[in-house]
Amino acid sequence: MMQIAALQEHLRGQGGNAAHVSRVLRQWLNALPQDAGKRRIEDYLPLRLRQDLPLFEQHLHSLVTVHSRHSAEDGSQRLLLSLTDGQQIEAVLLPRGGLCVSTQVGCAVGCVFCMTGRGGLVRQVGSAEIVAQVALARQIQPVRRVVFMGMGEPAHNLEAVMEAITLLGNEGNIGHKDLVFSTVGDARVFERLPQGPVRPALALSLHSCFDERRRQLLPKAPPLSVAELIAAAELYARSTGYPVQYQWTLLQGINDGDDELEALATLLAGKHAMMNFIPWNAIDGMPYQRPSWERAAQMANVLNRRGILTRLRRSAGQDVDGGCGQLRARAEPHRKHRNAP
Ligand code: SF4
Repeated sequence: MMQIAALQEHLRGQGGNAAHVSRVLRQWLNALPQDAGKRRIEDYLPLRLRQDLPLFEQHLHSLVTVHSRHSAEDGSQRLLLSLTDGQQIEAVLLPRGGLCVSTQVGCAVGCVFCMTGRGGLVRQVGSAEIVAQVALARQIQPVRRVVFMGMGEPAHNLEAVMEAITLLGNEGNIGHKDLVFSTVGDARVFERLPQGPVRPALALSLHSCFDERRRQLLPKAPPLSVAELIAAAELYARSTGYPVQYQWTLLQGINDGDDELEALATLLAGKHAMMNFIPWNAIDGMPYQRPSWERAAQMANVLNRRGILTRLRRSAGQDVDGGCGQLRARAEPHRKHRNAP
């Protein structure tokens, strides 16, 4: 598992100073050749580092490689990616310059409606492997926004994710509000995110306003109550100025009722927040149904009328069965998961 700190250490070992190290990583992250730009590298980088660059670039490009690409009708493109040890993760190129990246191979939160959660955690994705997903995506399309909503719970790989966010915000040409840290909520996140130096926007997966129901849907999420989560997220939103992006996977007959709407309207009244309803993407063998689009639209309307900014979204790539973890699960049916039950 490769971390950004190890890449920086290597470049320093080749005689690079802080500016040289930044420049090499910046070119990579922006999918630019190392010799692009106003200053010739012969005039800029030390000889030893220059001589090492071809091999180093090879190493960077090998961190994450495309196993398969799946284009969807909605304009998104799902990528199944291989890591150097043969593990696989998913990233999604979204329309309008968005990219969804993975932060773990597998996930330990175990949300009952998620394919990734089914197999448990396999391993962490290193910070260099996280930013490598951005560098790779930029070879395909421009990337202006990165959401950490792919496989994994960023809170469970917090330091690596924050290292990636810091590099992307400082050298990766991405606005801090366009880096979106997505979590089920964890006290460590609310402590760490405000410390910066790059403070990302926050997405919080809520899925229910009722503690007991939420515990059933997210069995291994930290034991924070819904009220505590919303209070902590609101503090962060007020300190950054970016609204909290609440995420809500809609499951028919479970969390699409009027009871949830009423509670949401109360809990989010006056909050610096927006709600995203995402009708569940059906997965074979799971005992859930997606609510009708009409019901989902009605729910969004009710909340909008009550003053809660609400959007109804499709999960990207539904027509290629690309819900989080599905591509990997299909490609690796026999892979053994370390923490699998
Ligand atoms: S929805 Fe996200 S947090 Fe929940 S199990 Fe899947 S990857 Fe993990």
